[in-house]
This record gives sequence, C-alpha cells and structure tokens, in this order.
Amino acid sequence: MSAPTNDKREGNLAAPTRHPVDWRSAAFYDGDAFLKEAERIFDICHGCRRCVSLCNAFPTLFDLVDESKTMEVDGVAKADYWKVIDQCYLCDVCYMTKCPYVPPHPWNVDFPHTMLRGKAIKFRAGETAFRDRLLTSTDRVGRLATIPVVVQAVNWAQVIHTQSVLPRPTLFAFTFYLLTGLHAAHVIGGFVPLGIVLHRAGEREYSSSRYDGVRFCVWYWHYLGVIWLVLLTLMFLAD
Ligand code: SF4
Ligand code: SF4
Repeated sequence: MSAPTNDKREGNLAAPTRHPVDWRSAAFYDGDAFLKEAERIFDICHGCRRCVSLCNAFPTLFDLVDESKTMEVDGVAKADYWKVIDQCYLCDVCYMTKCPYVPPHPWNVDFPHTMLRGKAIKFRAGETAFRDRLLTSTDRVGRLATIPVVVQAVNWAQVIHTQSVLPRPTLFAFTFYLLTGLHAAHVIGGFVPLGIVLHRAGEREYSSSRYDGVRFCVWYWHYLGVIWLVLLTLMFLAD
C-alpha cells in the first residue's frame, strides 16, 4: 500500500507557512498574472465558503458569484474583483486561524496577500482614493495629529457636536473649552515671538552679549511647561 500524499489531504493541520511577499519584482505588479491568481483563490474560496462570517470581503465575493450567470467564479467580471479587494483590511484572521488550505498545503491559498497584491497594483496605477491614501499614511496623520492646535480644533469640533445634542451646557464643557482655549492661546502666543527670534537669528542680529529676545522666549516656554504641569497635576488630583 502506498503512503498517502499531501495532495490527497482534505485540509491542513500544520502551522501556516508564510511565504515572503515578492513586492520588489516586476512580476508582482503584472495585472494579468494577478487576476489569474485571484481567480484561482476565489474559486477555492467559493467551493469552501468557510470564512463567510469573518469580514465583508467573503460575502461580497460569494454574492458576486451567486448573482453571476454561471454561478461560478468564471461568471464574475474581472472588474468586480476590486469590490472584493476593497473590502479586505488585511487583518490576516482568515489566513492565521481559519483556512485549512494555506501553505504548506499544496493549494497554497493566501487570501490576504493576494488582496495586498491587488491593492499594491492599484496604488502603483495611481487609482487609490485620497481617503485610503490618507488613512494608510499613519506617519503623516500621526505627525499632523500631534500638532497641539490641530488636536484641539478636532476635539472642539467633536465636543461642539456632542453638546449640541445635549439639553444644556455642562461644567465639563466649560472647563474643557477654558483649558484647551487657554492652551491654544499660549501655544499660538509662543510661536509668534519664536518665529521673530528665529528670523532675527537668521539675520545674525544676536551675539553672545546681546540675546534678550532668545532669553525671553526661553523663559516663556519654560513658564508654559511649568504652568501646564501644575494644571495637569491639579486636574488629576481633582478627579
Ligand atoms: S485578511 Fe482580509 S479577507 Fe481575511 S479575514 Fe481579514 S479582512 Fe477578511
Ligand atoms: S480563505 Fe480558506 S477557509 Fe476561507 S473561504 Fe477561502 S479557502 Fe475557505
């Protein structure tokens, strides 16, 4: 009796093997090759449907198949593949916990990396929406969000929205506006002289014996640091 071979196995009980994404090669961005691989993966998923409850990518795919003329993946227009790709947010749950056909299984189903490849092709073609580019630029958003006045403006907009549906203003809202408004005024008020000092320093108007503007700026920012540490401590104590 011959030993069982891997390709006869129904599922895969071994730990998933992750093949590296070959994102530097030109073949990775070959649109036709990608669509062929996506069709292969979609066809296996259509026959399996185990991940239907995980996210919107799978129901979108299965609806497209069920509503097609053939009720098979070959009946789905290639242009509709992007609807499935857009729904995957690359959480990896289907790969890591659900799919029995991930490598080392010979079917080599890697749904998330296939979706990732589609997103990369779309990005390289310049077809990614501004919203998606903004949301995925976490470093830029992080830098923007840590600018104090920007954070305060966003928080103010949210509180104004929340307060508008409350029957009357609250002490919390008053304190919030007072403290954040004061903080914004301090920061803006500090940047103006800082800009003037930077400009004068660029013009070489300061020397080792004449640097009053720099000194006043340093005092101001140190004063701000101390006053806000005191205020924060008081707020924590009053909590
Ligand atoms: S990796 Fe994508 S397709 Fe898989 S469960 Fe997460 S969102 Fe869904
Ligand atoms: S990813 Fe795997 S488990 Fe999920 S539907 Fe596709 S073949 Fe089935």
